[in-house]
Amino acid sequence: MTGYKTFTMIKPLAVEQGYAGKILDRILKEGYRVISLKMVHLCKREAEAFYEVHKDRPFFKELTSYMASGPIVAAILKKENAVQDYRTLIGATNPAEAAEGTIRKLYGTDLGKNAVHGSDSDENAEIECSFFFSGMEKMW
Ligand code: UDP
Ligand code: MG
Repeated sequence: MTGYKTFTMIKPLAVEQGYAGKILDRILKEGYRVISLKMVHLCKREAEAFYEVHKDRPFFKELTSYMASGPIVAAILKKENAVQDYRTLIGATNPAEAAEGTIRKLYGTDLGKNAVHGSDSDENAEIECSFFFSGMEKMW
């Protein structure tokens, strides 16, 4: 079965600002089931490994330092067409360009501190879920 699962992180500033509960509540109200969940503080090396696909981009250093700057909340979300629908729910990468009512528009600060991550394909969702959660932690 493809397309039923995506991976998200609530990024450090949004966690620090106390938005994790509100964001998870919104996710549930939109019809997703949270099938794995944890709060973790990544070290720089782990953040670099997660974002390895961006290693040659100019923002890589800033992004990975930020993602290792405080605890994040990681979750696996289950719903039909999860990857695509969740990208719509979070909105554009830059909160300033995100549609009204989207999670990034509501809780994001700027391009780097844009509140949440969302997988961009089924293949990457699988890789990202397995980066954060062992088989034992996957509740399905
Ligand atoms: N990012 C950034 N500067 C940029 C582009 C991206 O700081 O010019 C950050 C941004 O926080 C984004 C993350 O890097 O969420 C990963 O970038 P990607 O293009 O994958 O965006 P996303 O898939 O998160 O919308
Ligand atoms: Mg991306």
